[in-house]
Amino acid sequence: MADIINLLPDNIANQIAAGEVIQRPASAVKELLENAVDAGATEIQLFIKDAGKELVQVIDNGSGMSDTDARMCFERHATSKIQTIDDLFHIRTMGFRGEALASIAAVAQVELKSRKHADELGTLIEIDNSMVKRQEPCQTAPGTSIAMKNLFFNVPARRNFLKSNAAEMRHIVDEFIRVALAFPHLQFSLNTNGQEMFHLEKGSLKQRIVNILGQNYNSKLVTVKESTDYMNVSGFVGKPDTAKKTRGDQFFFVNNRFIKSGYLNHAVMTAFSEMIPSENFPLYVLFIDLDPAHVDINVHPTKQEIKFDDERILYAFVQSAVKHALAQFNVTPALDFELDPGIQSLDALTQPFTDQKKVQSANTSIYRSFTQANQAHMIDHSGSSNSNLRNWKDLYGPEDKPLEAPAATASLIDERWQEAATDQKVPVQVHQQYILSQIKSGYILIDQRAAHERILYERYQRALSEKPIATQQSLFPQTLELLPADAIVIAEMLPDLQALGYDLEPFGLHTFVVRGTPADIQTGNEQASIEGLLEQFKHFSHELKLNRREHLVRSMARNNAIPVGKPLGTREMQNIIDELFACTTPNVSPGGRYTFISFKLNDLERMFDRGA
Ligand code: ADP
Ligand code: MG
Repeated sequence: MADIINLLPDNIANQIAAGEVIQRPASAVKELLENAVDAGATEIQLFIKDAGKELVQVIDNGSGMSDTDARMCFERHATSKIQTIDDLFHIRTMGFRGEALASIAAVAQVELKSRKHADELGTLIEIDNSMVKRQEPCQTAPGTSIAMKNLFFNVPARRNFLKSNAAEMRHIVDEFIRVALAFPHLQFSLNTNGQEMFHLEKGSLKQRIVNILGQNYNSKLVTVKESTDYMNVSGFVGKPDTAKKTRGDQFFFVNNRFIKSGYLNHAVMTAFSEMIPSENFPLYVLFIDLDPAHVDINVHPTKQEIKFDDERILYAFVQSAVKHALAQFNVTPALDFELDPGIQSLDALTQPFTDQKKVQSANTSIYRSFTQANQAHMIDHSGSSNSNLRNWKDLYGPEDKPLEAPAATASLIDERWQEAATDQKVPVQVHQQYILSQIKSGYILIDQRAAHERILYERYQRALSEKPIATQQSLFPQTLELLPADAIVIAEMLPDLQALGYDLEPFGLHTFVVRGTPADIQTGNEQASIEGLLEQFKHFSHELKLNRREHLVRSMARNNAIPVGKPLGTREMQNIIDELFACTTPNVSPGGRYTFISFKLNDLERMFDRGA
């Protein structure tokens, strides 16, 4: 038999490897910005065209590259940042894998210009599909410019996979903001289709936060700063009254690397608990610095997760640092440390560090708060250690647990209808969550929230296709200052929002004036209503691939549906029942949950053992 194994040519191997690193224009934005930071640049410009599908270009005034390095940097595993595996544990640069440029060159057309400050001339290199097309000396400013053009031109399947410009732009802005927040002492700008979207002068972290997230945070930031021998936590949290219904202003950086951590997020949320309403999210921009030896950053290039050798101690530190900060600024009435029991009993807290480190850190405030009697140290062994885990998962939104399969049939619906017409039995609310309603063959139990979601969903769909929903004009129009990324989402949805009864008008770069809301939303708070909608829209955007309108309608239905726990009067319940069964698809919510379950008398009798 003939041998069948081939070695893949470089460009194909690179294309495959690139799938890991470059998934969308925003991935290139992150890699190129980080390279500029690593190169010691103090001014970094990002240019975008067509949401990065046509162009992502980063120009920096960093070290620049020699002729040879400029050619080498596109090779796979070409990096100047590590030499031995040991170096991995002392990494202070953003990159180290030497994969980004090779990946970019495999899936796009790249033009690089680079010049070292001491050199007269720079180098120009053009690469297509991993193949060098041109390399020659050129006139260029000191530093590096890398332009990535026509991403995925040679991998059409992946190009088709890219989302709308608004969605891709949102990812780009997110990445830009993360890097810009991490390095406030560097100047950054973002220019998209010829328009400057951000121009961020170098300054303090506070200035950077305000410049990015909005002037309204100016007097609303509380400094967080705690240092120990083991780690430092610094940054800002927003005062409780700035908490918003929409997630998005929450940032953790570990050694200046942006990470996502539901666990650490929970630590902050619990520090804020009781101070902000549930479902509200406080702003935070927190930097955790610790010896790189305690962090494993070598997970996955695009994953924003990170492994620590002891997550629980980090949790405790973060929670405590935020509590301290809030207490010091008199935002909380008093120091009331209550750490999770599972955390309090950790060795790491009861016996911190080595003896020598103990002495060194004994005077730091965090250490004291852990060790002094009557403070954080109140160890309560009654709690189970994983109770905490359960809680923080709960924080992550309502799970759509499917209920028992109902016997939802057309005949049942007809029956319900006839019944409604003839015989008005009074429905009963159960646990402020379900509506019990008698029907001829037994009874049905309606999930009030799921049912109302279905009703609103169909109403909103009609609004988009047939008759727009009336707008209730606000007496006092509110301005809504949004994150740039959120502003893009809203701007794209404006016409649909209009049909759904929202009257919004763009006002400045990331600001809208809310002139009215749908007439059937009884909220005095237009801002909360839109923030809630945004939150729904973003939170569920990764769940399913829906078109934007469908997604909007679902988000609005979710946002405006009556919640579990709301007491309902008879009239309200009756309305829900009637409107539900007037729906085209009454038996499931838009998200696919059952809206009601029916219980047949026959079945009940069998359960009571009468049928046998
Ligand atoms: P990594 O950042 O993991 O080392 P990259 O593929 O991103 O890998 O970059 C490869 C190498 O190219 C870097 O190690 C660095 O030496 C060089 N390089 C990349 N971008 C720049 C830049 N903007 N300025 C100077 N050198 C750069
Ligand atoms: Mg890199």
